[in-house]
Amino acid sequence: MTDREDVLADLLAHGRHLASVAPVGVPWPPSAVPVTERTAAAATPQPARAEGAAPSDPEAGLAAIREDLGDCQRCRLAGGRKRIVFGQGNPRAELMFVGEGPGAEEDEQGLAFVGRAGQLLTDIIEKGMKMKRSDVWIGNVVKCRPPQNRNPEPDEVLACQPFLERQIEAIRPRVIVGLGKFGGQWLLKTAEPISRIRGRVGEYHGIQVVPTWHPAYLLRNPAAKKDVWEDMKTVLRLLGRPIPGETG
Ligand code: SF4
Repeated sequence: MTDREDVLADLLAHGRHLASVAPVGVPWPPSAVPVTERTAAAATPQPARAEGAAPSDPEAGLAAIREDLGDCQRCRLAGGRKRIVFGQGNPRAELMFVGEGPGAEEDEQGLAFVGRAGQLLTDIIEKGMKMKRSDVWIGNVVKCRPPQNRNPEPDEVLACQPFLERQIEAIRPRVIVGLGKFGGQWLLKTAEPISRIRGRVGEYHGIQVVPTWHPAYLLRNPAAKKDVWEDMKTVLRLLGRPIPGETG
């Protein structure tokens, strides 16, 4: 068995085990789920639509956003990057993943989540959730790699966020998974730690948000995979999709 198969077998085994021993995991139905303070739909200005792009035309919307981004120099992260990582996937995705920012491999390739953590994310999507990675959209809170993979600074997040807001507005997924502290906190407009917001369903401008551990964290803490599997089962339920390993 390869490492990847091992990882997913482990993930699925956790899920099957938990399903077999007790009705654990995220409270259900979603209406009963405590919603974090977040949303701030009222406090957060609605993102501007991509100029010239109708909301029903996500491809054109995303192309316009990319064009507006240009050779972006709006924050200091521009100085150290090799490539802008715009994000990629299906412009009409019903599921979106939002992480923190590009790492070294992503910076090299100009693609989101293509390093080791990205491979684990692919496994979670394809082997765990039985979806295709090409059917979802994957992006980050900041589009340029922070030096030495440090955390993005608040002003950098602020400078970059109009583009992510517009991407979400163009794609209008049904569910967004916030990966790790930055993805989860940004989507839910909260300062609560990821350890407290994960496992709960929140909302971003009417779109359901499921925060979970970042795949890079899972590489360091494999025991947290069982949490992620519970969260991905929540995502599948929200999407009305079957849950692999569960019958009925
Ligand atoms: S991180 Fe965002 S705002 Fe900063 S330079 Fe890159 S694309 Fe522009």
